[in-house]
Amino acid sequence: MSTSEYEPPADDEVLRLVQAAISARNHAYAPHSHFYVGAAVLLHGGRIVEGCNVENASYSLTQCAERVAVTTSVAEGHRNFRAIAVASVGGAMPCGACRQVLAEFGMDMAVYTVDVIDGEQKMRLLSELLPDAFSGTDLLP
Ligand SMILES: [Zn+2]
Repeated sequence: MSTSEYEPPADDEVLRLVQAAISARNHAYAPHSHFYVGAAVLLHGGRIVEGCNVENASYSLTQCAERVAVTTSVAEGHRNFRAIAVASVGGAMPCGACRQVLAEFGMDMAVYTVDVIDGEQKMRLLSELLPDAFSGTDLLP
């Protein structure tokens, strides 16, 4: 883990990122919970990739919006994440599984949440949300 000189994105980039997450929420497939979530990752260089939650009748196969955004980005050849925004009613923070998936690509990442009802935003660093993250590569001989 690096001693961080991480700087969160500028306000205009955060605005763009949050708007992308809100927009991505429109694609959420959540017929079981009706909890619609949009996410967007900001890459170094400014590109934004969106994701939404995709539920499944078996429940356990449900994919969170954050992981969809990350995997879509990786599939497109981009994994230099700088920040992520998550939009939902209530401004939910990423679940534990998503925090670990984000940690795979580095702890220097700002996590923004937005409550789509009142617009309230919060920002946390991933390193705050997942202290002492598991890193299997640290354990290899
Ligand atoms: Zn999750």
